[in-house]
Amino acid sequence: MPSAIVQRLEALRRIMREQGVDACVVPTSDPHLSEYLPERWQGREWLSGFTGSAGTLVVCQDFAGLWTDSRYWEQADSELRGSGIQLMRAGQADTPSPHDWAIGRLARGATISIDGQVLSRQAWRQWRDACQEAGLRLDTGRDLPGMIWPGRPGPPAGTITAHAAPWSCRSRRGNLDAVREDMRRHDAHWHLISALDDIAWLFNLRGNDIPYNPVFLAHALVGREAVRLFVDAAKLPEALRAELAADGIELEPYEDIAAALACLPEGERLLVDPARTTVGLLESAAFVDKIEGVNPVHLLKSRKNDAEIANVRQTMEHDGAALCEFFAWFESAQGRERITELTIDERITAARARRPGFVSPSFGTIAAWRANGAMPHYHATPAAHAVIEGDGLLLIDSGGQYLGGTTDITRVVPVGTPTAEQQRDYTAVLKGMIALSRAVFPAGLPAYALDALARGPIWRLGADYGHGTGHGVGYFMNVHEGPQSISWRATANPHAVMAAGMITSNEPGLYRPGRWGIRIENLLLARPHGTTEFGDFLRFETLTLCPIDMRCIDAAMLDTEETAWLDGYHDQVRERLSPLLEGAALEWLRARTRPLAAA
Ligand code: ZN
Ligand code: ZN
Repeated sequence: MPSAIVQRLEALRRIMREQGVDACVVPTSDPHLSEYLPERWQGREWLSGFTGSAGTLVVCQDFAGLWTDSRYWEQADSELRGSGIQLMRAGQADTPSPHDWAIGRLARGATISIDGQVLSRQAWRQWRDACQEAGLRLDTGRDLPGMIWPGRPGPPAGTITAHAAPWSCRSRRGNLDAVREDMRRHDAHWHLISALDDIAWLFNLRGNDIPYNPVFLAHALVGREAVRLFVDAAKLPEALRAELAADGIELEPYEDIAAALACLPEGERLLVDPARTTVGLLESAAFVDKIEGVNPVHLLKSRKNDAEIANVRQTMEHDGAALCEFFAWFESAQGRERITELTIDERITAARARRPGFVSPSFGTIAAWRANGAMPHYHATPAAHAVIEGDGLLLIDSGGQYLGGTTDITRVVPVGTPTAEQQRDYTAVLKGMIALSRAVFPAGLPAYALDALARGPIWRLGADYGHGTGHGVGYFMNVHEGPQSISWRATANPHAVMAAGMITSNEPGLYRPGRWGIRIENLLLARPHGTTEFGDFLRFETLTLCPIDMRCIDAAMLDTEETAWLDGYHDQVRERLSPLLEGAALEWLRARTRPLAAA
């Protein structure tokens, strides 16, 4: 592979010389600024060979560097070997940002090229300011990697379906009314939406253009009266097209969005989200005044309504039952069958697929044995995966897309006898997970302020973890959504507050490179906890239902309240999952939900 990468970099450098470009920046991005990208826009991976989901590649004639965060350092280190691309450890104190690097390294007058069609307006501003300061030229009009990419995949052509009742709990018209209310507050005539999950939510539609995320390629332009959806109409069955027309939604070709923006009447006001719209697309909207705000849908969809929550609770029961079937098999198969990290993925997905409403996994399963668990985003492949044998810890992070909700759960189980050190680490992570689960806090609290609750017990060991503690989770939608993020690294954002109806993950971890990784993850629902003379308070309801392994617990490290929380949780798990299970899986559930003192 490195030789293919070397050739691609050579081709890029050749075209850079021809076009007078000194540095080419390739972000991990697409025209919708998606987190998971259709193959067509995986240019950073194609050019660098680095397969992680986040990173920025910078190529000059005498340098090539890939910036990625701590989750991916180990992986990038091995995947970049032999490519001549230097790993830039983003977030480490001595690593400059790509902007600072460019300012420090490039001579005045040099040209930086970034494709504006995959660059958010917000990110473009940062580059523009950095370039102005250093006397550099920023060019966003060319897609250089696209010019040297033979056989570049075309756009995906998945089908689109209606997300209908009882799974959909909102009406298209109601959603549009709510968006228009926000547009009125901004005195906007139009609102442009490019974020795929926002579009799918707004129109009660789901697609399969991107693995794991039930979305489809589209842009939307919402006016005070008109609603224009720019999508490949061939993806929609005839009946659905008629349904949308009846709701006043006009379908136009996907690629016509730029022309439509160019034709908006002069002087009208267009509401755009600078973090969720590309600078390249907005250049087309030359005649309208642009008003900036967060996409109204981004905030609306984060607060699940009562009917959605009821569906999610039911979905969690089926998801938990599927996991019990998996774990019962896993324990009985040890020593009898050859089990690998890949078998685990297959078995879990098969167990979920037997449950009603299952659509697909919600992300690529992470099944990580021993030291592999220390890489938080490790993925086993047919070429490189471990066989489960001997003693050790197995970390499994997996999730499902169901018509009635999206799940995301991590459990760690021991094979053989866990060591005292492993028990200490595991119990510290569990204490952090319990602390956040039990939190009571003022409504409207910035979500990052909750982070220290989960990290406290891990910090006490002199340890920490490099990822966030919690991300928002969609409703049969992307497993990662905003605006809330429980992470002290999250940038200050007035919209990133914890509000009732939000579903957020709770996933502290502790990773010992070369030895083991521990993460325990449940999904939480923020609910009202009452009002006092200090205002409204919220608490969390744990939505995820699956036993938390007790063989790894050092019981002496838990106080009475933590033990009571764990026993109470297991009582609930047993009560709600028992009716959905039988035979060995039911026996396994009963054995693994006994009180801690009896376990
Ligand atoms: Zn997870
Ligand atoms: Zn998660």
